[in-house]
Amino acid sequence: LVVLSDVNKHFGELHVLKDINLTVSRGEVVVVIGPSGSGKSTLCRAINRLEPIDSGTITIDGSHLPEEGKELARLRADVGMVFQSFNLFAHKSILENVTLGPIKAKGVRSADAKKRAMELLDRVGVANQAGKHPAQLSGGQQQRVAIARALAMQPKVMLFDEPTSALDPEMITEVLDVMTALAKEGMTMVVVTHEMGFARKAADRVVFMDAGQIVEESTPEEFFTNPKSHRAQDFLSKLL
Ligand code: ATP
Ligand code: MG
Repeated sequence: LVVLSDVNKHFGELHVLKDINLTVSRGEVVVVIGPSGSGKSTLCRAINRLEPIDSGTITIDGSHLPEEGKELARLRADVGMVFQSFNLFAHKSILENVTLGPIKAKGVRSADAKKRAMELLDRVGVANQAGKHPAQLSGGQQQRVAIARALAMQPKVMLFDEPTSALDPEMITEVLDVMTALAKEGMTMVVVTHEMGFARKAADRVVFMDAGQIVEESTPEEFFTNPKSHRAQDFLSKLL
């Protein structure tokens, strides 16, 4: 569903993505882990063209991601993204946060968008907060709204960039539970996270990045019990 071929990206002198080849199949959950600065966020941002790449190709469901224009907007709608900072529209209600995208970008009728938004808010457990504004919600609730907002666009793939790392411990579980449910329902997901419990439980595949390269790709069992590369062994030993 998502195919990256020989993707390279520099920030000036810094080579942040080095010949990245990655294929994510439909329904697959890929967890990306690696040290700070290894290029995980840049990879996510490249997948929906928030970040231009220098060379290589990225296709979503067979379509190349163009650099700009209408096609880009359409293809970007296929890729839902959830960030570390929830990025909700502060001056809109929770319900509006979820309905705005479908109404503006997809031309969905307001009543239909509302109905669907309430279903999604219910699914992530915050339907009773629909009339409030983001600041009135806890971090965990806001992040669940951000997930509902991304799902409202009916994406083909969901990208998560450290969705729980800005949250207090007691709120992490509620967000991970929503993500685990989504994974079980067959959503295609690319998840950057330091939550190794989630990686073990929900990932079909673990991708370990270091210094802009994919160093290792394996099942969670393999990765956590028998990492092949020294860099992965070193990374895991520091977590314990
Ligand atoms: P973290 O775990 O800390 O989030 P990361 O793996 O997500 O790290 P990236 O954010 O992708 O890493 O950054 C990769 C490298 O690119 C880092 O060295 C970072 O400093 C650099 N970088 C990221 N964004 C930019 C930018 N806009 N301009 C210049 N350098 C950048
Ligand atoms: Mg990052």
